[in-house]
Amino acid sequence: MTLLIRGGRGFHGDPPEAFEGALLIDGGTVCGATPVDTYEKVRILDADGCLVLPGFVIGHHHLYATLARGMPRPFAAPQSLIERLERVSWRLDQALDGDLIELSALAGTAEALRCGVTGIVDHHASPRAIDGSLDRVAAGLQAAGGRGVLCYEATDRHGEIGFEAGLNENERFVSQYPGTTQRAMVGGHAPFTLSDDHLWKLAALGARHDVAVHLHVAEDDHDQLDARQRGAKNVTERLERAGILDGRAVIAHGVHLSPAEIGRLVEDRAWLTHQPRSNMNSQVGYLDAAPLVRRLVLGTDGINGDIIAEAQAAFFSLRDHDAEGAAETVWSWLAGGWRLLSDAFGLPPERSFGWLHEGCPGDVVVLDYDGASPVQADNLARHLAFGISARHVRHVIVAGEIVVRDGQPTKVDANDLRRLATAGAERLWARMAES
Ligand SMILES: [Zn+2]
Repeated sequence: MTLLIRGGRGFHGDPPEAFEGALLIDGGTVCGATPVDTYEKVRILDADGCLVLPGFVIGHHHLYATLARGMPRPFAAPQSLIERLERVSWRLDQALDGDLIELSALAGTAEALRCGVTGIVDHHASPRAIDGSLDRVAAGLQAAGGRGVLCYEATDRHGEIGFEAGLNENERFVSQYPGTTQRAMVGGHAPFTLSDDHLWKLAALGARHDVAVHLHVAEDDHDQLDARQRGAKNVTERLERAGILDGRAVIAHGVHLSPAEIGRLVEDRAWLTHQPRSNMNSQVGYLDAAPLVRRLVLGTDGINGDIIAEAQAAFFSLRDHDAEGAAETVWSWLAGGWRLLSDAFGLPPERSFGWLHEGCPGDVVVLDYDGASPVQADNLARHLAFGISARHVRHVIVAGEIVVRDGQPTKVDANDLRRLATAGAERLWARMAES
């Protein structure tokens, strides 16, 4: 289908640049910003008075957590990250079955799309339903119309058999044809739940298939303590020895990496994803080094699909910690999602996500933003920090297909999805209560 988006004001890139003219998308790819809209036999999407931007990306998410929101509190409030994992996250992931995995992915993707997100880098765990689980995530993601990069969180939590099952699920999924809107990574939970040998196996699998390893690192200080107990100087040394820091790796959190370790990551050895809302919720501290990391990417870590809310939390927590902190810095973190996704899809700079010139992916968000003051390329980052929100999302296009129109999903019925998700959440919470 050929799609013409006309009437809006376009911005793309980092730092943002304005572009003129209507936007023509054909075969999933931008055909150029046209000065006149005289095309026939095209589907026309009206963006009158709106902002037209590349769709946003969540650099680290857990779609499996979608149905957990609002679940009953744990029997006692967690006092550490480990207790939070044991009482919340790991009770949740063990209660997931295939149907709940797919429904979580469907509902979570639909939610993210309505927040202007077109690409999701997901980190999945379901230790009682590992085999085939990534196909169920992919099915949910595709049914809603999202673009994604998937992996399974392999871990030693359930012994050698559990690790092998996670490794095999990564290998099975990464080996199959990825499809036009899906790619794979190799996932691991975190170094403190993986032996040196198993870290090495993950790195070897990633290298064999030319994809990144994606794992949590140093979210709190447990990863560092554990690394010293295993005879390493720090957790980064463990990752280096295993060969994981190969330039493609995706490291989530890194809050408890030392300045020297952050310095090594800055040297193009990994992407670091930043989830300030999750870090605040888990009380693990603040990533002070964030402004120093060149390849920083914003993620939501399963909190929800609202990357604009995450960007605003990132901006205000940056300001709270650094008087020099600027909205433009946070824009570059948001734009990091475009760079990471381009890496995962193997796109060269001239055809990368985050730009809407000819040859770039047709992933677009149309924002009906009612900000009272002028919006220009040089103040767009400050409008994002102070004004723009998910409520302004009007249309969303993924690979040239309209997946949200006038704020409503087009590929799923919003009322049906709400009914299904509510029933699914009740079933999930009951399973968690039994465990
Ligand atoms: Zn995470």
